[in-house]
Amino acid sequence: MENDRPISELFSLSRPLCSLEFFPPKDDTGVQALRDTAAALKKLAPDFVSVTYGAGGSTRERTTQISTMLRGEFGLTVMPHLTCVGHSRAELNEIADRHHAAGIRNIMTLRGDPPKGVAEFKPAPDGLSYANELVCLLKARHSDFCLGVAGYPEKHPQAPSFEIDLDNLKRKVDTGAAFITTQLFFDNDVFHRFVERCRAIGITVPIVPGIMPPLSLNQVRRMNQLSGSIVPAKLIHRLETAGDNTDVAEFIGIDWALGQIRDLLAQGAIGYHLYILNRAKAALALAAGLAA
Ligand code: FAD
Repeated sequence: MENDRPISELFSLSRPLCSLEFFPPKDDTGVQALRDTAAALKKLAPDFVSVTYGAGGSTRERTTQISTMLRGEFGLTVMPHLTCVGHSRAELNEIADRHHAAGIRNIMTLRGDPPKGVAEFKPAPDGLSYANELVCLLKARHSDFCLGVAGYPEKHPQAPSFEIDLDNLKRKVDTGAAFITTQLFFDNDVFHRFVERCRAIGITVPIVPGIMPPLSLNQVRRMNQLSGSIVPAKLIHRLETAGDNTDVAEFIGIDWALGQIRDLLAQGAIGYHLYILNRAKAALALAAGLAA
């Protein structure tokens, strides 16, 4: 099988870039369900798909398994995520070698969050402390890797200030990252301001907005707690009107995300990255909405 093309080659497309994010399921039943989702999403023809990396345990192996499946069975360009959590430099190099040998050329390069129940991130023995160090390690190991890194339009929760967080983001790019994918957000103004501030400090690489259709009030509240994403009062009000009707809530969430994507593209965003939570329905509805 041919090597994946670097995602950076897609930046000059004359149409918006579309990528989808999967997470590795816990068991074989989940893998089959994901296969069904991938089959349903084939008609969307995403430019690439990414597969998240767990904080530890067996789902980490599944990141490789799912990436291999999505490449082999569906012919998709994949971008497995990799984090520093719990890995020595030697282990990270070994994972990098395995991906490279398999033809993978794109990696989402992250520090990662500590496993559940552990409050603070601590580097593993002979491990790495920050994503910029992983960018450096991967580039030194395989210079033809195309690396994405995470950006936070509403600031990384642990960063002492926005300025410091942006400087840290710039360090990741200066070390060799080819593009930034953002944390999800529900209010486009925060993305537009973020891009402005990135450009002002000399971050010139493409910044791909991360969008998760807000399909229920519970979901947006959880995201607000986890990532600090502001939930506009208008969105809360619209989701409240759905009451217990999940179909109506989903319709509202898809409509909201559609409005976000249309505005982002109209304002010059290079494309969009969809956090689809391994489900096809919302992504297909969004694609249909965008094509209309
Ligand atoms: P870093 O860029 O290292 O930043 C972490 C913190 O340290 C920030 O506050 C930053 O300002 C600060 N910092 C950075 N560099 C330095 C430095 N050199 N010196 C001092 N301070 C510094 N998590 C997972 O576990 N698995 C995944 O698959 C995953 N995928 C993600 C995908 C995207 C698109 C996003 C946005 C997040 C993802 N996450 C994932 C979550 C991410 O791992 C967490 O947000 C984590 O807390 C930070 O990771 P990072 O790569 O942004 O870290």
